[in-house]
Amino acid sequence: MQYISTRGFERTYTSAEAIQQGLAPDGGLFLPQELPTFSLDEIRALAGLSYAQRAATILARFLTDYSYEELLSYTQAAYATFDATLKPLTDTVSVLELYHGPTCAFKDFALQLLPYLLTGAVQKTGEDRTILILTATSGDTGKAALDGFADVPGTRIAVFYPNGGTSAIQRMQMTTQAGANVAVFAVEGNFDDAQTGVKRLFSDAQLRDSLAERGFLFSSANSINWGRLAPQIAYYFSAYADLAASGRIQWGDPVNIDVPTGNFGNILAAYLASCCGLPVHRFLCASNSNRVLTDLIRTGTYDAGRPFYTTASPSMDILISSNLERLLYLLSDRDPSIVRGYMDALSKDGKYTLDPKAFVRLSERFFGGFADDAMTFDTIRKVYQEQGYLMDTHTAVGWNVYEQYAAATGDQTPTILASTADPFKFPSSVLKALGADVPADDFAQLHALEACTGRRAPAALAALETKEERFKTVVAPAAMKEAITNWLN
Ligand SMILES: *Cc1c(COP(=O)(O)O)cnc(C)c1O
Repeated sequence: MQYISTRGFERTYTSAEAIQQGLAPDGGLFLPQELPTFSLDEIRALAGLSYAQRAATILARFLTDYSYEELLSYTQAAYATFDATLKPLTDTVSVLELYHGPTCAFKDFALQLLPYLLTGAVQKTGEDRTILILTATSGDTGKAALDGFADVPGTRIAVFYPNGGTSAIQRMQMTTQAGANVAVFAVEGNFDDAQTGVKRLFSDAQLRDSLAERGFLFSSANSINWGRLAPQIAYYFSAYADLAASGRIQWGDPVNIDVPTGNFGNILAAYLASCCGLPVHRFLCASNSNRVLTDLIRTGTYDAGRPFYTTASPSMDILISSNLERLLYLLSDRDPSIVRGYMDALSKDGKYTLDPKAFVRLSERFFGGFADDAMTFDTIRKVYQEQGYLMDTHTAVGWNVYEQYAAATGDQTPTILASTADPFKFPSSVLKALGADVPADDFAQLHALEACTGRRAPAALAALETKEERFKTVVAPAAMKEAITNWLN
């Protein structure tokens, strides 16, 4: 299978090239030239397999320059300690818990696997330099990337986070990271300063050349990399197989898929699964107060020129949803000139309006809704009281939007709700939602949530309290280059 860019057709790429490059040279995103299809029998056969086998089976159809055995060795290593757990919650809704990985967020599904895919890609393309991953993070991505790449031979990884801009737990998740090939830097300023600083490093030709001489190749663990998206397709097939095998639906029955959404990666993976044969009726795209996607789905206009809100679901505080470009390409009959038109308008005017055909297709398949913080907290409390189920703020946004959808449409189709983070990752918000006192200290919050719910915090989070912080360097944005150069010496 070959890959193309959403912005042009100059040439095609192998999956290894797409994963190694991350972004196409014309600024577009990679997509398969043709999507594979899975028959119902093939989906049914997944039910008898382990999660690692399911993932390798799905991935083998997309990443055709890797063998099934190779992919299986990767998935067995990446998913040795966790999988995607489907829990029935009500008559219609089942929760797909995607947060049982080492960093307690769904990003582990992609970032535990990406290092294997990337080092495999480098071997296939004949590259012999060490991969140097640079990532700016507002919290979750940095830790998931560090954990995935720690001590992976042939790689180094540096993460930049805004000094004081993360929760103490998020900071300690990063600064206590083990591994000889990792570095973590606090950057003076906010997330944008860190992000802009990393972009500057990537586009610094002098730095790239001098690092190339010393045997390093820049790469990114950004969520637009096909190597991050493909692993997410697998868990939607897996969830469907579990739902049908449990008898809650008949094989072939359609389901809805409800995803709390930020950069549009996770919900796009669900859409791609349906393009490949997974029976899906509607996609529920759930946003917080940064409701740019809700408005797109309701009106056909994407308008990023609006106030940015800092919410209780911070991993969805995004106004530019990068992966949306892939959906636009598919909705536009794979015409890259239409995509270029939208993307040019977005960078020039901060907005664009879909043509009528694409808008009809979008609104037929997607329902857009949003929940602000008050609605999110209400949902956490209500679901905990009524179902005894504790959810994090992001998942609660998804649940709230499901209720809006069910009320608006009366649709009774069985629905899979993607749960993207462990509630103990956001203890102050969850405590507040439950009406409990919120102590000032992060670890006191963790213990208060344990006391209030009678549950144990995940060991990986609780253990942070007594761990040594390895990385304490704070750098000015202008000093990031020097920090990297010194670290590599
Ligand atoms: C990253 C993240 C999201 C958003 O996922 P996208 O793929 O960017 O839409 C939602 N919830 C949590 C907890 C996350 O970490």
